Amino acid sequence: MHEASLVEGILKIALEVAAENRAEKISAIGLKIGDMAGVELDALNFSFDVLKKNTIAENAALKINHVPIIAQCNKCGKTFNIARYNFFCPECGGILILKSGRELLVEFVDCE
Ligand SMILES: [Zn+2]
Repeated sequence: MHEASLVEGILKIALEVAAENRAEKISAIGLKIGDMAGVELDALNFSFDVLKKNTIAENAALKINHVPIIAQCNKCGKTFNIARYNFFCPECGGILILKSGRELLVEFVDCE
C-alpha cells in the first residue's frame, strides 16, 4: 500500500528529528500535503496509527496542512486556484502550469 510506505518515511524523519533533539517523545507531526499529491487521508491516518505503535511517536498526533492546487497561465501569467482539474485559463484559454499542489513533506515535528 502506497500510504503505508509514505508513513514509514514520515516516521523515519520524525524519529531522526527527535534523536537530534534528544527528545523522549514526539507529540505531533505536521505534514504539508498538496491536494494533488494523490494521498488517501483515511489510509494515511490508518497507517500512522498502526506504524507509530511501540515507537516514541506512539501518542503523536498527525496534523495535516493542505496545500491548494495553484497554477499559472503560460499566456497571460495569471495564477488560479484549480478546481475540478481544469488546466485551461478561464481568462484567455492558455494552458495552466502547476505551481503547487503536489507537495508531500514533513513540516514540523513537536518533541518533548
Ligand atoms: Zn491566461
